[in-house]
Amino acid sequence: CGIVGYVGARPALGIVVDALRRMEYRGYDSAGVAILDGDGGLAVEKKAGRLENLDKQIAEVGAETLRGSTGIGHTRWATHGQPTDRNAHPHVSADGRLAVVHNGIIENYSPLRVELENAGVEFSSDTDTETAVHLLEREYTSGEHAGDFVASAYATLRRLEGAFTLVFTHADHPGTIVAARRSTPLVVGVGDGEMFVASDVTAFIEHTRDAVELGQDEVVVITADSYSITDFDGAATGGTPFHIDWDL
Ligand code: GLU
Repeated sequence: CGIVGYVGARPALGIVVDALRRMEYRGYDSAGVAILDGDGGLAVEKKAGRLENLDKQIAEVGAETLRGSTGIGHTRWATHGQPTDRNAHPHVSADGRLAVVHNGIIENYSPLRVELENAGVEFSSDTDTETAVHLLEREYTSGEHAGDFVASAYATLRRLEGAFTLVFTHADHPGTIVAARRSTPLVVGVGDGEMFVASDVTAFIEHTRDAVELGQDEVVVITADSYSITDFDGAATGGTPFHIDWDL
């Protein structure tokens, strides 16, 4: 399983799919991408099975429907819910504006799902992951920090238990990606006018060799030319910068 996020000036789709291909060795049963067009649009394609299945689906719908220079991608190793198209990531909020990818397990998904369903949320998958996207949508639309994508993400993360690498993207905020980790890996790739987040450096090593490793319970907010690392309360921490001086 693997995760990648890209913000920059180049078309995100090819970069994201390539990164997923480079992380295939980690194993997976499904794959998917979400691309922001920068103009309020969010396009998602996801498919069970090999990356070739996703490639084929993208070719069928037309790669031009996935235009934009902010994107996230995911390969899934199912833990909650069968490896089907509908359970593949990204998962999207009811308004279609917010997308999440996740590796790991949200241990308290069951009470969270009950709470959300009682509040009228309809789920469209059997995953633990989907609770995170609905929680964030509710924070963003009616929480204490409504309209503030990053602060709403912090509030959402504070409610999650378990092990996770999570990457969030919002159609209202193209050019910004929020990613977090607890007990699963997450590394930032610092490019020239572009930034990456990924499960491991193989995802972006062909684009940059400057990286920052996140510590336990850290969040990173990336834009094309900045990254900022905090804890789940938004207090600055820092991560561990390193240079990749080896070859794969
Ligand atoms: N628990 C999530 C799911 O089953 C993520 C699994 C993964 O790490 O890919 O969809």
